[in-house]
Amino acid sequence: MLRLLRCVFRPGFAQHKDLPFLEALDTIGCADQLTQLGVKGKELGISVGTKTIISADFTSLTEYTRFPYALILPQNITERVLGEHLQDLGVSVFRPYRVVGMTASKSEENIIDVTFETGETMQTRYVIGADGARSIVRELP
Ligand SMILES: Cc1cc2nc3c(=O)[nH]c(=O)nc-3n(C[C@H](O)[C@H](O)[C@H](O)COP(=O)(O)OP(=O)(O)OC[C@H]3O[C@@H](n4cnc5c(N)ncnc54)[C@H](O)[C@@H]3O)c2cc1C
Repeated sequence: MLRLLRCVFRPGFAQHKDLPFLEALDTIGCADQLTQLGVKGKELGISVGTKTIISADFTSLTEYTRFPYALILPQNITERVLGEHLQDLGVSVFRPYRVVGMTASKSEENIIDVTFETGETMQTRYVIGADGARSIVRELP
């Protein structure tokens, strides 16, 4: 039901963050900052003409969670907050780097050679496939 909210907002501009997302971010200390920056939607209603077909009151979740609302937040702010958190942990993010190939290294055991669109390569012990629904990482041998 919450997913229907996406229709209301321009993709990439504003997204709603539902409860499991905020609970997960809370475990890594990011939820409070995001909730301060977003708009808290405490109720949801979807109508066709004058007829309400779906309505929900999230305040009834108060006894179960610290986040009894759908948080509405622009995507760039979400990415900024998460990026700053990674930076504080000493993790660098390099953009734009598109992976186009992955092979087991011929020179070293348990090492993967990752090739990028630019022709550059890097060697790594781990690759996490977090490249979305059309994941190339998932397709590569
Ligand atoms: C129109 C629309 C509206 C949506 N609205 C909402 C909403 O309001 N709330 C909500 O919770 N969810 C919403 N979703 C769903 C949400 O966007 C996805 O569930 C979520 O983005 C999936 O996250 P992900 O990290 O798996 O993939 P993605 O967000 O797709 O991230 C994948 C990343 O990998 C990068 N990448 C891709 N290929 C490569 C490659 N070869 N090499 C290197 N990097 C690569 C991409 O550039 C991207 O940065 C919406 C989706 C759409 C399409």
